Amino acid sequence: MKNVVLIICFSLLTACGGSGSSDPAPVDNDAASTPPDNTAPVDNDAASTPPDNTAPVDNDVASTPPDNTAPVDNDVASTPPDNTAPDNTITDRFDFIVQSEPTNLLDSQVDVELEGAFQRLADELNETYGLPDRKVTIILRDCGAINAFYDAVNSEVIMCRELLADTVRWGISQVLDDELGTLYGVYAFLYTFSHELGHTFVDHYNIPVSIGMSEQLADEIGAILMLRNDITREDALAVFEGGAYLGSHPTAYLDIHPTPANRYIDLFCLAYGAYPQLANEDNVLILATVAEFANQGRDCGPFYVSALDATESYFAPYLK
Ligand SMILES: [Zn+2]
Repeated sequence: MKNVVLIICFSLLTACGGSGSSDPAPVDNDAASTPPDNTAPVDNDAASTPPDNTAPVDNDVASTPPDNTAPVDNDVASTPPDNTAPDNTITDRFDFIVQSEPTNLLDSQVDVELEGAFQRLADELNETYGLPDRKVTIILRDCGAINAFYDAVNSEVIMCRELLADTVRWGISQVLDDELGTLYGVYAFLYTFSHELGHTFVDHYNIPVSIGMSEQLADEIGAILMLRNDITREDALAVFEGGAYLGSHPTAYLDIHPTPANRYIDLFCLAYGAYPQLANEDNVLILATVAEFANQGRDCGPFYVSALDATESYFAPYLK
């Protein structure tokens, strides 16, 4: 997702109430100085503090969509594969498309900005990754819960607007500077989207994975999507902030996701391995984590390279 982080951040900085600066301030000393906290009450996936009157956050991979009253239909693909196409086009016959549902959460101008950012994101995905069997619909929705998920039945990535509000609230809570906090929140939201793309590609590319490892693999592919090539500071920070956000939200005891601490450590190591200059950030949590990796003698370079190699092998047949 080359440049995607910047594209969407610039759009959403304005949308989220920041100044829209294209030159983010240096990372604050107080940035995310609180390490992932596992002591809060057990809650579900995306956030420990859902908004008022919303249902608890659900898990993010939806084998079942939120309003799954209709029976599962195996013929759900609205555009069935066309088997008459030549073999050399088989890996790219469908597109990512964006669908923005009506909102009561964002004002119309902000929502237009959000939809536009996701449209550019979809354009970039379509330029890079083929879809062999079905389209993927990226839906912006007022879900009534803080969440994001991939619906394999309908081939939909659902991004709840409540999640964006929550990641921005979380980002602002990490620092004194609201604009910088908004940027952190947008980074975390973007990473969460990338995680859902991880599930999407596992499904569409038939990547073998056991149920028990599916969340870990989605985390890894989601990170590599941001860290594949021409890696920028923003790419690395987005993966880091995604890990810090997810790492600060406890999961239920029987949750299928890795523990928050494990998610944070793995995502940090991927970002740090891909972009060692992360160690130069003036950020307490980053520096503490870098020091801990050094103390443990753990090298994130090979960790990143192995994840990159694996993901590239999954993607190879479908890259444009
Ligand atoms: Zn997931």
